[in-house]
Amino acid sequence: MTEKIGIMGGSFDPIHYGHLAAASQAAWELGLNRVVFVPTNFSLGKRPQACAEDRCAMAAMAVAKDPRFSVSKADIERGGPTFAFDTVSDISSLFGPCELFFITGMDALAGMEKWKNWQKLLNMAKFVGASRPGYSPKLPEKLKGRAILLPVPSLAISSTEIRRRVGRGEPIDYLTSPLVCSFILSRGLYGGGFVHRVN
Ligand code: NAP
Repeated sequence: MTEKIGIMGGSFDPIHYGHLAAASQAAWELGLNRVVFVPTNFSLGKRPQACAEDRCAMAAMAVAKDPRFSVSKADIERGGPTFAFDTVSDISSLFGPCELFFITGMDALAGMEKWKNWQKLLNMAKFVGASRPGYSPKLPEKLKGRAILLPVPSLAISSTEIRRRVGRGEPIDYLTSPLVCSFILSRGLYGGGFVHRVN
């Protein structure tokens, strides 16, 4: 049987339990054999706060205990701005014949009509948009019926909120994995001088 592979595309700045819950939910609902997390190098028009190597290291720590999950540096090693077309092409050639599902935030997917080669992309992978509670997703007309909506309650956690909390010295325990919390603290990421930790 053809393997079904999920590609989790995002900046993961930082990765958190909402991402892991979305990947797990997608794996269950879509019958995925594995999910590969692919941190962007950077998306056009925005720069992540943490460097690519740090975001990748945090993603690797967060997924380490789940045999379904892995991390690819494909976008980071390619360099330059990240285009989903290149991500899907690279992961596709890595795994050979398989069925691909590109999973990302619904708000990112809403702009897909402007993505490089987006029509070709729709034939290369199925697109899955994870959504947060309270966010009413608007799919571009041409994507309707061609992308899968994935409501994920735990996506109430956001990377933006984690960065904001770290900057204010507020706790981030239980929002992401303990190893990621310690990494953020020890590297002084996101303007964190002091972060309250529960051990
Ligand atoms: P991002 O800043 O990482 O995320 C945008 C929104 O989606 C945020 O609300 C984010 O929540 C959420 N999100 C991101 N990744 C997610 C995931 N895997 N599962 C659930 N929610 C997720 O967005 P980005 O870096 O611009 O792009 C996301 C993906 O779309 C990347 O793989 C990127 O390459 C692709 N993309 C491609 C193009 C193109 O080809 N031209 C253009 C734009 C985006 P958090 O902040 O909590 O993560």
